[in-house]
Amino acid sequence: MRILPPDYHIHTALCRHGEGEVAEYVESALAMGLQEIGFSEHIPMPQIYDPTGRMHISEFPYYVKQIESARVKYPQICIRLGLEADYFPEHHDYIAEFIAGYAFDYVIGSVHFLGDWNFDHPDYISRYEEYGVDAVYRDYYALIRQAAASSLFDSIGHFDLPKKFGHRPHGDLNDEIQSTLQAIHDHGLALDVNTAGLRKPVGELYPSEEILKRAAEMGIPVMLGSDAHHPREVGWAFAATCSRLRELGFTGTVQMAQRRKKTVPLHDAAVAR
Ligand code: ZN
Ligand code: FE
Ligand code: FE
Ligand code: ZN
Repeated sequence: MRILPPDYHIHTALCRHGEGEVAEYVESALAMGLQEIGFSEHIPMPQIYDPTGRMHISEFPYYVKQIESARVKYPQICIRLGLEADYFPEHHDYIAEFIAGYAFDYVIGSVHFLGDWNFDHPDYISRYEEYGVDAVYRDYYALIRQAAASSLFDSIGHFDLPKKFGHRPHGDLNDEIQSTLQAIHDHGLALDVNTAGLRKPVGELYPSEEILKRAAEMGIPVMLGSDAHHPREVGWAFAATCSRLRELGFTGTVQMAQRRKKTVPLHDAAVAR
């Protein structure tokens, strides 16, 4: 059987926009033959930011307990404690303190907001045209560069997220993309290769294959994630994505433990513990 790399981008019902308990995700991973997974629930934030779309800070210890119980109940699979943290420059200290409060194996830094606009939420799509699609991309990549330089994160989530609903930049964004990849490289971060894009209107990986090819040339490490919000999405399209990654020039994926990266060969990425 083909050995698949860890799935490091998994949500649960705890974030209020996913379905399924931690244990159901683990069982789905076991059924797929995964040997390692990591949960990456959304960071609780001060309540001005979508209080209906994430855990309250008081619920977070329950999330951690669920992971700890799953480790005991399912010793046959390695289960990492991760976090998907939104990057808001104005909340740097809050985010840093929150991250320091738990024994995370890794933290994915993601940008889902431009100001008060949750631009990847389907209810607010009309704001792309108001804002201007190219301006969305430029402001977004500027925030990603800041996130990369913030030393808060181990990887950058869904690198080209503004394409989610099919909005393509009109102008040439090559320099933006190149300087953002350079920032990720220079600060030693990995890229989240996120298969959720395949399930969205855009119908392709985050980041795009063109961007991934450049990342491979630059030696930027990758970690795989399904961004599952339902147990059936665990390991989504992983076999095909692994083959593509190899064709694009990657020979390994990242394994995370206690915020330290290790590169394991792509073909047997989940074997080494
Ligand atoms: Zn989510
Ligand atoms: Fe995200
Ligand atoms: Fe996510
Ligand atoms: Zn995500």
